[in-house]
Amino acid sequence: MPCPCGSISPYETCCEPFHKGKSFPATAEQLMRSRYSAFVKQEVDYLRETLWPPNQKHFDEIAHRSRAENSLWLGLSIYDIGGGSEQDSRGTVLFNARSMANGKLQEQVENSLFRKRDGRWYYVKAVG
Ligand SMILES: [Zn+2]
Repeated sequence: MPCPCGSISPYETCCEPFHKGKSFPATAEQLMRSRYSAFVKQEVDYLRETLWPPNQKHFDEIAHRSRAENSLWLGLSIYDIGGGSEQDSRGTVLFNARSMANGKLQEQVENSLFRKRDGRWYYVKAVG
């Protein structure tokens, strides 16, 4: 079974080590993909932990858990990447996360901003 993030690698060697805290994404794109697969795998704690630390206190656990559990996750497409490499400290990822909820197709198209602190990438916010 390929990882739900769209990689050809199996979950066990792709996003699971990130979700279990055994390793950390090296790029903004990897973090983006692992956050998507965290919704699929209902790893809600990971969604909080990968939020930019000053924003973690505003994390709505119930809303995220409900969204993770009540959606059928159909796939992630990455459209554009700006920065976010291992050498960068910030980057953007434009993506489309498709899901089905309450019988309706939802396409979340978002340009997300990521920043690195102490060697770890975090999701900051949507910038478009
Ligand atoms: Zn993955």
